[in-house]
Amino acid sequence: MAQPTFSTHVGMVDILPDEVGKWQKLEQIIREEAKKFNFEEIRTPILEQTELIARGVGQLTDIVSKEMFAFERGDDHYVLRPECTAPVARAFVEHHLDQRGGTQNLYYIGPMFRAEKPQKGRQRQFHQFGAEIIGAADPAADVDIIALMMSIYDRVGIANTTLKINSVGDPESRKAYKKALKDYFRPNLSKMSEISQERFEKNPLRILDSKEEEDQPFIEDAPLITDYLTEETAEHYGRVKELLDNLEISYEEDPYMVRGLDYYTRTAFEVISPDLGAQDALGGGGRYDLLIEEIGGQSTPAVGFAAGMERLMIACEELNIELVDEEMLDVYIVTLGEKARKWAVKHLPKLRKSGLSASMDYIGRSIKSQMKDADRENARHTIIVGDHELSEGKFTLRNMKASEEDAYTFDEILRRLTE
Ligand code: AMP
Repeated sequence: MAQPTFSTHVGMVDILPDEVGKWQKLEQIIREEAKKFNFEEIRTPILEQTELIARGVGQLTDIVSKEMFAFERGDDHYVLRPECTAPVARAFVEHHLDQRGGTQNLYYIGPMFRAEKPQKGRQRQFHQFGAEIIGAADPAADVDIIALMMSIYDRVGIANTTLKINSVGDPESRKAYKKALKDYFRPNLSKMSEISQERFEKNPLRILDSKEEEDQPFIEDAPLITDYLTEETAEHYGRVKELLDNLEISYEEDPYMVRGLDYYTRTAFEVISPDLGAQDALGGGGRYDLLIEEIGGQSTPAVGFAAGMERLMIACEELNIELVDEEMLDVYIVTLGEKARKWAVKHLPKLRKSGLSASMDYIGRSIKSQMKDADRENARHTIIVGDHELSEGKFTLRNMKASEEDAYTFDEILRRLTE
């Protein structure tokens, strides 16, 4: 076979027809759960202004400093969105969504782009679903966001997850904590990884994220942010835990979890799955009370999550969870001869207009291959049409699952299939 001339870019993946059913099913679950929680969908462009992402996500993050697909055209700086919280926040500010009143409870589903080194569970184009509550500082909003995320995993059947939570503080707590971290790491800095040495000056919190082996002994005993929270932040965090307890959502506290995005304040959380291997994060999120002001809006508290859809699919595979609704074709018309094909072309639209999904053979295959095709298409029924049937005015309607068949007029068939 000739080698194909073109292929996808590295880290970009086609979702082929055989796989698309599980994506549709997952999207359906997300939409249904979001509706139960009273969230509305928002769709933002794939391309955003580079400056929005740089400011929103943070200049020092890996996403902005290393992983952006960015280009210029004329005077405009475009970036393929690497995440959707900053775009949703932009849309909130740009369209004055606060004027709709109340909190804005929004969700999204779509592709995101990060120029990471691809591996299992890490792609350059991947998909996230996520949700945001904009306009509420109350811990109840944090918990509603977490509950929505967990309810989606529940619906899918991924039970074996761990919810890790932390408070990353407000700017005041963070300032005190950063100083404490620097004082703690400074004496051993020369023994630590290059990347941690770099982070030391720019954002010492990110050292806690380090996966480098030589850093681990120092990270183990590092000061805890929870010891540096202001009274108000500590109280907020306490309320979040209390509400999670009330809802019987189990969690583990992880005082070293800081997450890769700069905009988080107070609550931060992550859901991990032991079924995922090295890339074990299913999703995560947190509060971002400063983001909206940072990108030019009024100071507005907000909280949200983002979750990877490919990772969820991998977890399903590991757990043998079938995400597919049995997609069935209602009718396949099997034809023998030219007259029968003409009949089928004329009657297909009638079946479809009655709300049935219907198909036929277009390329003159034998009856045997048409029956095989009908099987492959998961057809509930076949209508078998040949010269004999045409002259009788009665056609064989075969129930493929029950392997039963009988002869009926077309009107009778239509009635039987639609009643
Ligand atoms: P983040 O926006 O970095 O908080 O990521 C949220 C979730 O998106 C992660 O927990 C992953 O499940 C997923 N995710 C992030 N980056 C990638 C990627 N490059 N490939 C696949 N999934 C990703």
